[in-house]
Amino acid sequence: MHSNLPFISHNYTSHHDGPRLIITAAVHGNEICGIHAIRRIMTELEQGSLVLQRGSLTLVPITNPLAYKLGQRAGERNLNRNLSPTNTPQDFEDHIANWLCPLLAQHDVLLDLHSFQAPGQAFVFIGPPDNQGQLEPFAQATAEQELAKRLGVSRVVDGWLATYALGVERRRQQWPNPDERQAQLNTDTRYGIGTTEYMRQQGGWAVTLECGQHADPQAPEVAYRAIRHTLAHLQMIDAPPPAIVPTECLSLYEVTDKADDGDHFTRSWTSFDPVQKGELIGQRADGSPIVASDAGRIVFPNPRAQAGQEWFYLARESGRLTT
Ligand SMILES: [Zn+2]
Repeated sequence: MHSNLPFISHNYTSHHDGPRLIITAAVHGNEICGIHAIRRIMTELEQGSLVLQRGSLTLVPITNPLAYKLGQRAGERNLNRNLSPTNTPQDFEDHIANWLCPLLAQHDVLLDLHSFQAPGQAFVFIGPPDNQGQLEPFAQATAEQELAKRLGVSRVVDGWLATYALGVERRRQQWPNPDERQAQLNTDTRYGIGTTEYMRQQGGWAVTLECGQHADPQAPEVAYRAIRHTLAHLQMIDAPPPAIVPTECLSLYEVTDKADDGDHFTRSWTSFDPVQKGELIGQRADGSPIVASDAGRIVFPNPRAQAGQEWFYLARESGRLTT
């Protein structure tokens, strides 16, 4: 099915050693700012106004061609979940994974370009601090932090996989014997593995740049600037080192699922709205209140979430980038 849609990457290899960088866009098909930015970079490389001096650069303007063709987030499923190669591909995204995962593994660094649904400012996702835990052991946190500070955006978020796994564990206790595939996916920690998590599993490092609202005319510019800054920071092009932008660092620490279709927010929340400890966020169908367990921000509130799925996240300030 859809086998007429090829998977396309463009590689530029310099004569000199250096980092192997891969830049992906349209992992979600309706997030197109990165496509424009990558094509602009390709034009500059081909015209010679931008010269790759060191290392190897791979550009993937359209990572999910089916979702892009459909103009929607996913083709047959969300490519940025449960990402790994498989011997028994079932859906279109499994076929992408069998091409994309080995490609990612050939690189040291990933810059993954996304955009988001609601209005808001651009931000960067980075991985966990260095750790030797079971979930996401890592030893290259400094590299991710140093790049995140120089991408030209002023907000960094971490804690994605740990918080996702916490939600999965809670769901598993609520539904110990999931029988439907969707329920299985919702209770599988691996379901939190996307492009950047896969990259870290393979020994690389990675950041996700959320460039702004899907239709924000500035989003392609944010993506383009981030690519230039990444190439300069990694010394793959001859350019002045990019400036450090004062950056707020937030850490996700809790995810709350919608339990019933009658659960509702008590106001129209926007991502990164501040919340006080004990502040009322919403109400369960039975009328019981849902309050913030700590001072911080509400993140990715989704009034249209289905019962059993993530409804909103909470984040608090972390001192990661200031130390
Ligand atoms: Zn996305």
